[in-house]
Amino acid sequence: MRDAHHGLAAHEVVLLLGTDAERGLESAEAARRLGRFGPNVLPAATGGGLLWRVLGQFHHPLIYVLLAAGAITASMGEYVDSAVIFAVVSVNALVGFVQESKAEAALESLRSMVRTTARVIRDGYEQAVPSENLAPGDLVVVEAGDKVPADVRLMQVVDLRVDESALTGESAPVAKDEVVLHANTPVADRRNMIHSGTLVTAGRGVGVAVATGAETELGEIHRLVGAAQALATPLTAKLAAFSKALTVVILALAALTFAIGLMRGQGAAQTFTAAVALAVGAIPEGLPAAVTITLAIGVGRMARRRAVIRRLPAVETLGSTTVICSDKTGTLTENQMTVQTVCTPEAAFTVTGSGYAPAGTVQDHEGRAVTAETSRALSWCLLAGAGCNDAALTERNGRWEVVGDPTEGAMLVVAGKGGLTTDEMGERYPRVGTIPFSSERQYMATLHSDRDSGDHMVLVKGAVERVVDLCCAQMSADGSAVALDRAAVLDAAEDLAARGLRVLATAVLLSADPDRFAERDLHGSLVLTELQAMLDPPRPAAAGAVTACHTAGITVKMITGDHAATARAVAGRLGLLPGPVEGGRGDLLTGADLTALPAHAYPEAVGRARVFARVSPEQKLRLVEALQDRGQVVAMTGDGVNDAPALRRADIGIAMGRGGTEVAKDASDMVLTDDDFTTIEAAVEEGRGVFDNLTKFIVWTLPTNMGEGLVILMAVLLGTTLPVLPTQILWINMTTAVALGLMLAFEPKEAGIMQRPPRDPARPLLTGALVSRILLVSVLLVAGSWWLFAWERDTGAELAEARTAAVNLFVAVELLYLFSCRSLTRAVWRIGLLSNRWIIGGVLTQAAGQLALTYVPAMNRLFHTAPITGQAWLRVLGIAVLAALVVAAEKHLRHQAM
Ligand code: ADP
Ligand code: MG
Repeated sequence: MRDAHHGLAAHEVVLLLGTDAERGLESAEAARRLGRFGPNVLPAATGGGLLWRVLGQFHHPLIYVLLAAGAITASMGEYVDSAVIFAVVSVNALVGFVQESKAEAALESLRSMVRTTARVIRDGYEQAVPSENLAPGDLVVVEAGDKVPADVRLMQVVDLRVDESALTGESAPVAKDEVVLHANTPVADRRNMIHSGTLVTAGRGVGVAVATGAETELGEIHRLVGAAQALATPLTAKLAAFSKALTVVILALAALTFAIGLMRGQGAAQTFTAAVALAVGAIPEGLPAAVTITLAIGVGRMARRRAVIRRLPAVETLGSTTVICSDKTGTLTENQMTVQTVCTPEAAFTVTGSGYAPAGTVQDHEGRAVTAETSRALSWCLLAGAGCNDAALTERNGRWEVVGDPTEGAMLVVAGKGGLTTDEMGERYPRVGTIPFSSERQYMATLHSDRDSGDHMVLVKGAVERVVDLCCAQMSADGSAVALDRAAVLDAAEDLAARGLRVLATAVLLSADPDRFAERDLHGSLVLTELQAMLDPPRPAAAGAVTACHTAGITVKMITGDHAATARAVAGRLGLLPGPVEGGRGDLLTGADLTALPAHAYPEAVGRARVFARVSPEQKLRLVEALQDRGQVVAMTGDGVNDAPALRRADIGIAMGRGGTEVAKDASDMVLTDDDFTTIEAAVEEGRGVFDNLTKFIVWTLPTNMGEGLVILMAVLLGTTLPVLPTQILWINMTTAVALGLMLAFEPKEAGIMQRPPRDPARPLLTGALVSRILLVSVLLVAGSWWLFAWERDTGAELAEARTAAVNLFVAVELLYLFSCRSLTRAVWRIGLLSNRWIIGGVLTQAAGQLALTYVPAMNRLFHTAPITGQAWLRVLGIAVLAALVVAAEKHLRHQAM
């Protein structure tokens, strides 16, 4: 049935799906169908069967080494050791599986935070419903910027173009129409269908949903591929490569150890044990899992601060961001428009009241209320603004809200305050044609017919410079057309804009020819009626967030389609311009300036400017590229269809969750669920925190591996007994990674994290200072355990006891070193010893584990350990404290000297 609809006429499809071509489904019927067909969502991706995923955990070079070691150990008759190795490997795989599943689930659940709505016609009304509530038979409306919510057979189409790359891989938009096609037309050529998951890049279409959820073409692909999001970032890739190379080196070393042992005439079994111990000890097995989990925790933290990560690498990149290019309207400002002043060519009026409530009046300069009845010129002004308009006002729980563009909403409100009601107007002048607003065109025009006279008229509103270009005359107080005073109009607009107001001009053309309603026909034919100036206050927290970014070494640039003077005034209020408002030259560039710049001067000028006004979306792409060429890591916001290329190109593309189109969200790395600039700053802060925590884990975990490897190597070279056995090393590595190391992922952000410059992405993860700390701790571990083992043996302890003391020493040193690693630069008592509860819990767990290992007879048998004396414990703790003091001293000296 899925394949049939493109071969039928639209009315047949309507009939087949039991719907109504005008009214759509009745709500009750839609609800019934939803119950029957299920919600319009794709089944959750699982990425293969459960068994397969568990087995996947064993697919690491290190695990192969361990499994081989376990098998050989068994073949030598050491069944207990072999069983311990297998058990530890299995537990490790299980823990890895659970943690990775949790991380995946966390990422998956983020998707539902970015809700998509679909527009449907039900009960005869167009309304927005959550996409998942769409049912087969629903009449679906799509427009430029939407993601198609279901498979839809089109009925009416206006210039509809769809990017079907999600389905076909072909990214050039495809034109759509409603003609009947041959029944065996392949999916990619079905021009009269639009498919779930594809993106509308232009135009508008209405059609019948013929398939939803898993029944759609996308659902089919999803079933075939079934891929979950990969938990990979540049860093994880680098680490994976690093540990692979390391594994090879370590295997070579292990082989060497084996050879040396044999040459010295030690038994094969004994040398093999040593070689295995070296391999097991030196490989940092906890690393990949810890990185994934730290990233996942970071993503969760960002989501709680309303920044939803769509692509995992963004978490890392955020910490290196050097430039944030932010939209003005709606991101730095509230997008709460209120018209404050209306200027006809001959008079200025003040508007009272605020918000979208219709309470308020239009007053002349003496404070007398004026209405459309009393002033003819005003009447035309307000009519143009309210008629050339797609927004609607609604009252919900006593609050007035705009459905649609706030700029248009404000124009409806002021028309209402002037006594004009849109319902009457729609009755008398029904709209018969539209040239929609776009950021490139910067104006919108509508064609209306007059019911009474049969005449036609054109209404226009838009950016002042553009609308003035369309005009040849202006309207005088009595409503007649007089010569246009271009300079005076532009001056008036400039004055209003300099107060930070958003200024739009309106114009009309009476007795229009309905057949000549195209952009080029309008040019130079209209009569200018007025300017409307609206206030859009900066978001209260935005100025603070801008300052915070500057302190953190991040430049904030504002990009807007708005007037230069408005942009300058708002930027001044937000603290975006360094000097006084008239300030440094080159602070502000307009789209025209950008076009005029010679290529060689472009990067420099773009690097210096802080505000870009009257910029079109295409110019944004070039801006990003120029900044990147200057070595910047660029975060860029966007909301429209045409912002997608710039969002894709930016290092971090940021889309608006509320006001943004689905196309923009699809191209982005991160979505702000509240559209607020402050959220970007928060995300950067979290990004830096994540990177810190990753570094901390690595700095903490590597010394153990080096220490263990070196101890074994020394024992083999000197031909002495092994101070620790392979199974004991397994115990140390596996338990401490989970109980201690992972807790660093919960470490709160360090104070002053936003006071340092962004991380240079080219800088290695481990700086020289950190490498030398790792070496220092490794040496302390080797020296301490070597000395302790020898002391215990010399004072008559059994071999098992001496080894137990050495194992406890390793763990004790790591445990105290963990506290040091909570901050890479500051002493632990400065950040509060108990401030991370997870660490306290981990430490207690690990301590209990060590006591069990030392005193529980079963554990003694499994791990070849033995109870040790109180004095031995004192020596263990004494050495550990001494080592901790040395590390603290090193840290203190280094960071005091700097
Ligand atoms: P921004 O979102 O940065 O403010 P836009 O591209 O939305 O920039 O708007 C650019 C200019 O286009 C505005 O300054 C205004 O003059 C005009 N404009 C904005 N919205 C509309 C609209 N709905 N209809 C007509 N003109 C508009
Ligand atoms: Mg806008």
